[in-house]
Amino acid sequence: MQNLNRRVLLRNRPRGEPLPSDFELVEAPVPTPGAGDVLCRTIYLSLDPYMRGRMDEGRSYTGGTNPALGSVMVGGTVSEVIASRNPAFPEGTFVLGASGWQAYALSSGAGLRKLDARQAPLSTALGVLGMPGMTAYVGLRDIGRPKPGETVVVSAAAGAVGSVVGQLAKLEGCRAVGVAGSEAKCAYVVEELGFDACVNYRAEPLLPALRTACPDGIDVYFDNVGGDVLAAALRLVNLRARIPLCGLISQYNAPEPPPGPNLRPVLVNRVLVQGFIISDHLDRLDDFLRDCTQWVREGRLRYREDVVVGLERAPEAFIGLLRGRNFGKLIVKVGEDPSV
Ligand code: NDP
Repeated sequence: MQNLNRRVLLRNRPRGEPLPSDFELVEAPVPTPGAGDVLCRTIYLSLDPYMRGRMDEGRSYTGGTNPALGSVMVGGTVSEVIASRNPAFPEGTFVLGASGWQAYALSSGAGLRKLDARQAPLSTALGVLGMPGMTAYVGLRDIGRPKPGETVVVSAAAGAVGSVVGQLAKLEGCRAVGVAGSEAKCAYVVEELGFDACVNYRAEPLLPALRTACPDGIDVYFDNVGGDVLAAALRLVNLRARIPLCGLISQYNAPEPPPGPNLRPVLVNRVLVQGFIISDHLDRLDDFLRDCTQWVREGRLRYREDVVVGLERAPEAFIGLLRGRNFGKLIVKVGEDPSV
């Protein structure tokens, strides 16, 4: 075992886009487990858009208070238990937890979930078989409620959530249309994931391109970004369309809320718009894991991971996520994965 822990702390609260100087990498002793504790060695750290909100002052939408300056950055992790005083989690157990941006962390065991590396690669517990995949599953099936033959549009289509939304829409017998920020992402979404079409919002005027891709209008718009893409999708919504409002990444770095889109089509078309936070839907975890684990194993649900090696690279990778530089689920490999 190494003698030193490495941790990334929140040093400053960003105004607008985060800067490398808003983070600080520090070393500290590796903690020793007390009675009932386990010591977790981080293998993979998940980087997710919600972390930008957790860097701000004040309360988070989860109900808690955002971390104080000087705290370890929060985050979901896959770890190996390397010392245990808790019989429920013996040494060598792989666990999904929330150690944050650090190489080692203590846990009482509360909130840890055991992982079986024979079922699926460990990293998938942070992506296609983790929080983002479940967000797609619940948001599309429970809120979007797609019917065969309908058109489902999803933004940030090549990303962790969006890539699953479009594939699930295809499994439901829908037309799946993505919106993504590069030619390579659009090609991946269509050619490898099986979407029917994908519009590059950076390369062409969005509304005419989306209209061409959706000749029968939009029945479900799964919104991951807000802003201009939402505004264009609203122009094409059909009668009684549904909009699962999942994320607003286009404005996470905005110091002030930008002027909103025109909601008149929501009214005249009786569109259902529902915001949701996946942590309110944990009752769906077993259904999600059962279905999506099977589909991944059968090759019907494909995924792509963008793995950055080294905890020290987490800040630049996170800044890049908010600029669309990631291609697939963004994960930091913090330590060795003994299962591969
Ligand atoms: P992704 O893997 O999709 O990565 C983020 C992507 O967002 C980028 O790659 C980029 O793709 C796109 N993006 C970044 N900046 C902008 C911008 N200014 N305008 C438009 N698109 C942009 O992330 P996730 O799949 O993890 O998350 C997708 C969304 O889902 C986020 O908004 C996130 O907050 C939300 N979410 C919500 C949850 C909930 O409970 N409601 C749970 C999990 C995620 P591109 O190059 O294509 O623009």
